[in-house]
Amino acid sequence: MKNLNRYWADRLNWFSSDGREKRIRDYLTLANSLVWQRQASFFAAAALAAFYFDPISVFSCYAVVVLTEMLDQILSRRADAWDGQDPVVGRKILTRIFLNTIVSALAISVFIINIAVQQTAGGHFTPLFFLFSASVFAAMYNSQLIGVLLVRLSIYGFAFLYIALLDVIRYSPPLSSPIWLEFFTIIFVLYFIVDISVNFYLGYQDRLNQMKLIEEENERTKAALEIKTQFLSTVSHELRTPLTSIIGSLELVNNGVLGELPDKAKPVLGIAARNGRQLANLINDLLDLQKMETGEISFQLTPIEANDLVQEAVDSNTGYADKLGISVSFEPFGKDCRIMGERNRLLQVMNNLLSNALKFSDEGGTVRVRVEDLDGRVRISVQDSGVGIPEGAEERVFGKFSQVDSSDVRRVGGTGLGLNITKEIVERHGATINYDSELGVGTTFYLEFDHLPEEEVADDTTEPVAQVA
Ligand code: ADP
Repeated sequence: MKNLNRYWADRLNWFSSDGREKRIRDYLTLANSLVWQRQASFFAAAALAAFYFDPISVFSCYAVVVLTEMLDQILSRRADAWDGQDPVVGRKILTRIFLNTIVSALAISVFIINIAVQQTAGGHFTPLFFLFSASVFAAMYNSQLIGVLLVRLSIYGFAFLYIALLDVIRYSPPLSSPIWLEFFTIIFVLYFIVDISVNFYLGYQDRLNQMKLIEEENERTKAALEIKTQFLSTVSHELRTPLTSIIGSLELVNNGVLGELPDKAKPVLGIAARNGRQLANLINDLLDLQKMETGEISFQLTPIEANDLVQEAVDSNTGYADKLGISVSFEPFGKDCRIMGERNRLLQVMNNLLSNALKFSDEGGTVRVRVEDLDGRVRISVQDSGVGIPEGAEERVFGKFSQVDSSDVRRVGGTGLGLNITKEIVERHGATINYDSELGVGTTFYLEFDHLPEEEVADDTTEPVAQVA
């Protein structure tokens, strides 16, 4: 009994709007997009029928069909304003859809029956085919609202049976007559229409379920990503504080501030400090990456003298260059060369380009750094004579945690994050970063910024004059 009640509750739900907002929207959107296709077929059917049958009755029926189409259009306009949320509006719209469907299916059936009634000989090929087309059209495009489809197909079903029985009643033929053959064929066609309607309905149902699954999966992925981001940022913060104090202590010890070190301990503590700094760089990169991804980062832009900025970056890398046996040359631009930027962030960019240039060069190589003015753009370039980058590797060069090839990882250390962060910083300054490279010859990375016109230059101001997110 309980099951029976559920069965009927489910069936009755076909006619309810509860939880069917998406279906109602889909139904109206599709019906709207097919309006001209329907108009063309109605008009073609009416013109054909008017030529062979009584034009006045044919065009009168056609006029009613067009009228029901107009009702559909009015309803569709009203439904456009509905956001798919308010269930009261949803119920009203569904009721109107049912009413329109009844009127439209009746008008189409009367139009077709009118033709059948006028045919007195030779079967009812034309009206039956019209009815068949209308039913298949409904089965294909009305499967979002099964109740509405049932109502339309039931009306068409009665029209089919009426036409099938028309000649049986008219002529009372024997069972061997083609009139009965036509009758049984119609019953077969009716079964076929029900079958394809069910299939289209199940297909739509499947698509809805799949979309729901994809949406749920999407939500789960977003939540997992959020947790990952929070976790990574908490861990990075927690690691950074003790690591800073470890590095600081090691530097004090290594610099001999706490007394002379035994010779055996020096290299070991040197390695510990170097690795500590590498770890700190990685943590800083991770924190920057998080901030960029969550949009937490914003830049305080001030006018900066590009020559000075680059000189400072070159100076801070000479120790590293000396250690690797690589010489660094710098050619500043002859005149003042101001750009807008956040000094520390641009130093971070330059340090990354310079340390890469040094890292990927061989001992005895040269790294050339230039500041130039190219038609109102300030170009800063870092050119090395190192290993070079193969063609088509842009995504790996600028990607997250990506490196051009694994042998790089073995030869020189790195996380594959530096250039990703660099590109992000540069682009948020409204500038660009690019490179030219040839394998075995070397690589040049270019940064290009707008050159600040003289009149916009604020005198030695350190106050930010612009902020970008
Ligand atoms: P990392 O240097 O930590 O590996 P980056 O994001 O700075 O990461 O660089 C990504 C990759 O781009 C490097 O691993 C390297 O393969 C390539 N690359 C960057 N700069 C150069 C360069 N000057 N010469 C050759 N390859 C480079």
